[in-house]
Amino acid sequence: MPILNGDSMAAPSRDVLDFSTALDVLKKEYPERDGIDVKTLIDSETHGGLTYNDFLILPGYIGFAASQVTLDTPVTKRITLKTPFVSSPMDTVTEHNMAIHMALLGGLGVIHHNCSAEEQAEMVRKVKRFENGFILDPIVISPKTTVGEAKALKEKWGFGGFPVTARRHNHPRDIQFHADLDDPVTAVMSTDLVTAPEGVDLLEANSILSKSKKGKLPIVDSNFNLVALLSRSDLMKNLHYPLASKLPHSKQLIAAAAIGTRPDDKLRLQKLVDAGLDIVVLDSSQGNSMYQIDMVKFIKSTYPALDVIGGNVVTREQAASLIAAGVDGLRIGMGSGSACITQEVMAVGRPQAASVYNVTSFAARFGVPCIADGGIQNVGHIVKGLALGATTVMMGGLLAGTTESPGQYFVSREGKLVKAYRGMGSIDAMEDKKAGGGGKDAKASNAGTASVQDRGSVTRFVPYLMAGVQHSLQDIGVKSISELRKGVAEGRVRFEVRTVSAQAEGGVHGLESFDKKLYS
Ligand code: GDP
Ligand code: 5GP
Repeated sequence: MPILNGDSMAAPSRDVLDFSTALDVLKKEYPERDGIDVKTLIDSETHGGLTYNDFLILPGYIGFAASQVTLDTPVTKRITLKTPFVSSPMDTVTEHNMAIHMALLGGLGVIHHNCSAEEQAEMVRKVKRFENGFILDPIVISPKTTVGEAKALKEKWGFGGFPVTARRHNHPRDIQFHADLDDPVTAVMSTDLVTAPEGVDLLEANSILSKSKKGKLPIVDSNFNLVALLSRSDLMKNLHYPLASKLPHSKQLIAAAAIGTRPDDKLRLQKLVDAGLDIVVLDSSQGNSMYQIDMVKFIKSTYPALDVIGGNVVTREQAASLIAAGVDGLRIGMGSGSACITQEVMAVGRPQAASVYNVTSFAARFGVPCIADGGIQNVGHIVKGLALGATTVMMGGLLAGTTESPGQYFVSREGKLVKAYRGMGSIDAMEDKKAGGGGKDAKASNAGTASVQDRGSVTRFVPYLMAGVQHSLQDIGVKSISELRKGVAEGRVRFEVRTVSAQAEGGVHGLESFDKKLYS
């Protein structure tokens, strides 16, 4: 057996090159980068469209820290977010609590429409009210209001520090632990008020509030009438959520909600707009329809300040119809959702990676941002969606098990803490819609009902996703999502197809036991 020198199987020792020439040799003799470009990747699968698991992105050069990677990205032509995460308009995923927290964390929550127009508008209002500079329309109560009534108001509005305004401008202490609900609020309200005069600027008012150690700062006119309110929790929120999604020159969180394309939905939309809606998502599994095109045109002419996201689409042709109608964004995916059986029941749909690339490469020519919707199971899928041209990703199942999603946790048969998750086209969800006066005619179910494991609060889960995406982009060697898209379009970011055995190799294998802990 001869003794081999280094990699002498490939190059006999007399041909070994001087190591210091490695970069020159690479440049001169390997004009093509290792791996394949995105177009070759998508075309390589002529026998079937690609899904996220069918390929990998090759690593580049790390010349910066992961914390330097920025994730700013447009969700519509006019609105940019600081993180690419969007929660799905499903009744087991996004109501006001999820929408508020997704927006605080730099993303967006799209409020579902499987409820009455009034209920949905109320949720939009809660998002818009959540974080304010000055609260210009504070909810006030009279001295005759009982502690019990004030508690009910707290349930309704989501905040509990109400100014009592008859003769004096003060507000009750925390009513939570006060036993006698029939007492008037005057029995518990605090009277040692610190106020600020009308005309005070936000900076100064914040400083008075910080020094006062109080929860609220009433702003009063010269006759001691209440004209506005400042809340300490808003001060804290501004400190804790620097990425929060807000429109420029606004202190309020961005609110998004979904509607259908039936005539009734125009009335629903008016209520949502009155509540302060910023973005409307037209919720349909096949968006290329006369109904949706008419709705897009109606919205663009009636509410020019409102951004419209159309969809869902998976082909260039579908995208072109909606772009021509005037959408400000597109939502991509058909049948890739975790609880969805469209492809099985309707025989239509497309594997998600192929959908995302084909739609985004067309939509980018018109400056229309795209959401990759469905099939996101981990950070890797998010990065692959972004690499294929999506500007944001929409998640349902991944966020359904968090504290902020609607519904209660329960213990599954296996003893795990879980929450319910169901497709919006499932029989259960459609029946709820009919009961609430929503849909009229039944149709075949295109989704199922399931449960998902507890994931804790999105205030920890979304930062974990964010850190994961930053590290992944660092591995690829790009400092931002736009740099990633540019690198892919110009062929510098490279890909590799993953065979079935490569997928097995990339997963956990050959271990006796394995405990998957994603973050601590
Ligand atoms: P509390 O401690 O339960 O009273 O609630 P917070 O002070 O934490 O207020 C929660 C959120 O509701 C904050 O973002 C406030 O800006 C908002 N908020 C509180 N009171 C009012 C109000 O009377 N009107 C409006 N529009 N928003 C309010
Ligand atoms: P996930 O993140 O759970 O994989 O997918 C969420 C997406 O599934 C949603 O944003 C939506 O596009 C899709 N979806 C939700 N409900 C249904 C349904 O009932 N039928 C179908 N076909 N898709 C659904």
